[in-house]
Amino acid sequence: MDMDELKYKVFDDGELVNEVTIKKIKPCIASEGKIRVLMQLDADLEDIIPVLVSKYPPGRVNYIERKNVLTLNIFNRLITIYPSGKISMNKTHDKEEAVKVITNIMNDINTCYSDLEQGNSINYEKLKEKLSKIGPLVIYNCLPQTNCEECGEVTCMAFAMKLLSGDTTLEACLPLNEKSSSDKIKCLRELLGDQIMETVGWKKKNK
Ligand code: SF4
Repeated sequence: MDMDELKYKVFDDGELVNEVTIKKIKPCIASEGKIRVLMQLDADLEDIIPVLVSKYPPGRVNYIERKNVLTLNIFNRLITIYPSGKISMNKTHDKEEAVKVITNIMNDINTCYSDLEQGNSINYEKLKEKLSKIGPLVIYNCLPQTNCEECGEVTCMAFAMKLLSGDTTLEACLPLNEKSSSDKIKCLRELLGDQIMETVGWKKKNK
């Protein structure tokens, strides 16, 4: 579809990104009746993309390190983020929805920038090492393994799989909040690290 570019001011004083421009809208080949939206943010993301990897559930992230290109499978769509600030988003209803979704990502980008500036962001090499070890079984090994169903899942293994895909949060496992589970939390923290613990829903107050 030929169209004029549409510029949206999302934030007034974001740490890094404030504006998004919709450059093109095309039919989505992955979902009939929906659109694929090509956008451009108002900042270079070269340094931010490796940090952004840690902000999303491991099962929702595909990061091509060689190209520094990150694809997220979130909000029921694929969102690809390029170092130049270009964004591609499929399975979208309309431009208003695209702006709503990208606002969430822009917020995460600004948080990552802030973390990076303050020296609080995880080093990507360390993150990569952690991500290479994370899978349902190793997470299961750190869970209470009682299959008590308090999290809403039938088994702890089902919970571990949903945790990786971002379909549940660590806090939903109520037994983990009990004092007797401190060794389990230690196990998870050693496996995931503080940043990924937070990403999968372990609140800072529980540190
Ligand atoms: S609440 Fe925790 S211990 Fe109980 S089934 Fe879910 S993951 Fe397992």
